[in-house]
Amino acid sequence: MAGEPQADCLFCKIVAGEVPATVVRETETTLAFRDINPQAPTHILVIPKVHHPDAASLAAAEPKIAADVLREAGEVAAEEKSESYRIVFNTGSGAGQTVFHAHAHVLGGRGLQWPPG
Ligand code: 5GP
Ligand code: ZN
Repeated sequence: MAGEPQADCLFCKIVAGEVPATVVRETETTLAFRDINPQAPTHILVIPKVHHPDAASLAAAEPKIAADVLREAGEVAAEEKSESYRIVFNTGSGAGQTVFHAHAHVLGGRGLQWPPG
């Protein structure tokens, strides 16, 4: 069921503490931890604790939690002293999504090109 933990989901396992992660912030509804393969000096993932496959389906089902994710992305960037940063929600394998549990990439700490690849 949407929102329920999924046994085969890596990020549900991180929420459950079954897979370790370097957690930088936690709220009642969200978890923020460092990406294992950072693409910038600051590369942190902000996830809802509930399972939804992507950002849009999270926003449709639980708009308050989607807002929590965005607010936490800003908090993470502020803690990292990243004045300029990028929030990315890869959606679909063609866009590079590999973990189908909604997550925001917060990227900063270096110049970021626009448009992205
Ligand atoms: P996506 O490709 O779905 O947009 O993002 C998934 C991200 O999760 C990737 O940037 C990848 O490096 C990261 N990732 C994959 N496995 C792990 C893990 O076990 N721990 C952490 N911290 N990040 C992971
Ligand atoms: Zn999940």
